[in-house]
Amino acid sequence: MTTQMEPLTATLSLDAAWCRCADRRRHAHHHDRLLLVETDFDELLELLELAVTWQELDYSDAAVVPPERWNDFAMTHVWRDQDRMERLFGLATDVALRAASGAVGGAQLLELVAR
Ligand SMILES: [Zn+2]
Repeated sequence: MTTQMEPLTATLSLDAAWCRCADRRRHAHHHDRLLLVETDFDELLELLELAVTWQELDYSDAAVVPPERWNDFAMTHVWRDQDRMERLFGLATDVALRAASGAVGGAQLLELVAR
């Protein structure tokens, strides 16, 4: 009796559990959710809400990847559309880290999402 092996498939897996980056080691749950923003609209909305409220709410005890890391996060992970995701995380970073001047760039994010 011979054992038939399943043919290997060359599928690209974006399984977050495989990632060994510093953000996953520090904030695994939020890291894995950030990886979904490209394909899950609810996760994208969560990121936008986090960005818009970053200056207003206290996230010091929250287990989240902070906005200071979002640009690097976008650049060091594999996306279906790398340019779009780098733009998205870049805009989210700008919104989150913008001084509380009242000039919120949320409209920019919504414009990007609508494309
Ligand atoms: Zn990672």
